[in-house]
Amino acid sequence: MADYLIQQREYLLEISRALTSQLSLNEVLRRVLYAATQMLDGQAGLLALADAIDEEEDEVSFSVRASYGIDPKLLHFFAPLLADISHGSADSFFIPKLKQKVRVVAKTAGLGLHQVVALPMAIGQELVGVVYIFRGKRQPFTQNDLQLLQAYADQAAIAVHNARLYEQVSTEKQRLDALLRYSADGIMILKPTQRIESINLALARMTGWDPQEASNEEYHQVINWARREPGMDLAEAMHNGWPLHQDNVLYVEGDLRRKDSSTLSVGITYAPLFDAKNRLHNIIANVRDITKFREAEEAKSTFVSVISHELKTPVALIKGYASTLRRDDVMWDKETTLDGLAIIEEEADRLAEMIENLLDVTRVQSGTLSLQFSTVRLPELVGRLVRKFRVQTDQHTIESRFPADFPDVQVDERRLGQVLSNLISNAIKYSPDGGHILVSGSRLDRHVEIRISDEGIGMEPEQLSRVFDRFYRADNALTRQTQGVGLGLYIVRSIIKAHDGTITVESVPKVGTTFIIQLPLSER
Ligand code: ATP
Ligand code: MG
Repeated sequence: MADYLIQQREYLLEISRALTSQLSLNEVLRRVLYAATQMLDGQAGLLALADAIDEEEDEVSFSVRASYGIDPKLLHFFAPLLADISHGSADSFFIPKLKQKVRVVAKTAGLGLHQVVALPMAIGQELVGVVYIFRGKRQPFTQNDLQLLQAYADQAAIAVHNARLYEQVSTEKQRLDALLRYSADGIMILKPTQRIESINLALARMTGWDPQEASNEEYHQVINWARREPGMDLAEAMHNGWPLHQDNVLYVEGDLRRKDSSTLSVGITYAPLFDAKNRLHNIIANVRDITKFREAEEAKSTFVSVISHELKTPVALIKGYASTLRRDDVMWDKETTLDGLAIIEEEADRLAEMIENLLDVTRVQSGTLSLQFSTVRLPELVGRLVRKFRVQTDQHTIESRFPADFPDVQVDERRLGQVLSNLISNAIKYSPDGGHILVSGSRLDRHVEIRISDEGIGMEPEQLSRVFDRFYRADNALTRQTQGVGLGLYIVRSIIKAHDGTITVESVPKVGTTFIIQLPLSER
């Protein structure tokens, strides 16, 4: 008896070691089972844990999580032992026909196991698992054995429970780490001293700081403002007593100076994290790249200023000529009157065109730009347009060149005419010194190609990528002099896209520009 007690103490000690050593759940289970088997002088043991419980259902299933002295290949023979475990409360723990079942298992698996004892591992009334100990010898388990094992099992339940919690917490932490690490937003975790605990990959990319290098730096090394919107930065806010409580988030916006000294527009939200004693534990900064948002804002204000300017000009001209012609104290000769009226008509046309363009942009954006397809002879369409434009300029020669076998295409004739007009009028507008303008067509494998080339001012490579953007006008002396909103090419590309076609541009400054359209030759 005294021997038993000493042994029991040994084993309980073993458990408390397992309890405190932050082992993985599997390791705790392995140790618990090993000690229990030794303690009862068993040959083999199994430890099964209740699977995660579904609140709705009352059914609890058990799975083997550790075994001792049993070849893992034979474990499946033991499944019947895990079935029908009464679980309502740990007190009523009972496994029906356990002894018979063990006899069957021993026989089918060819194992010499004769005695079995199964004891519940419970925390309070909750059954968390079952320990089975098997003996090879005929000698049955005594009441004393059972008591010993039960005391042990109760302790073990706590160890298992803790290991489970620990495991849960560490998976939670891993999940959180992954979330922070791979979040598209920049994230920075700060200590209350405003030093950096860690930054994620996105913030590393945004700022040019290596995460390792950033760790333990003062936050403002990494969050280095080139320009900041009015309001308090983190340091100032903290100096003034921030944060007052958990929901007291701070928002700062501006342009960050990155390590390579380029800048990036960001909005940063600082959220405080308090510990159980209500002391500031961490500050979590969420850094969002707001470049796109800024650009959209800029585009909007460009829109307003460009449109109001561009609309005002023709209206002012129309108004000016109309009121001049209307004066009853002056008699205008016929020529002056006709000139005035011609200008009024031209300006009214320009106004109408601009309004039409704006409507088209709205249609493109709302996805209601609809096409009326018909069979079109492009050489004829281009011929008509070229004749129309020739009348408007005597500085340029405009030529249309199509092979005789150029195929008919299925397009929206009015929209395609609009595309070509836009491109030809750009070619004229951006060739102030005149030159040759060529509209040529050719047949490719399953496409037709139309090229519109000029010998004008051309564009710089960095301007090329933006010409199809809304409101984009390349910055040069000419665009500053000529009228335009920067919508022409945006609409052109939208129409070509709606035709499942493509448009690209090639240009050499001071040499000329070529726009290349490809349209699919498909039977619609
Ligand atoms: P809008 O067509 O709305 O009246 P726009 O002609 O300025 O105004 P787009 O047709 O969209 O606008 O062209 C955008 C910009 O691309 C122009 O401002 C110009 O800088 C440049 N660009 C377009 N076509 C040519 C060309 N053929 N040669 C040189 N630059 C061009
Ligand atoms: Mg244009």
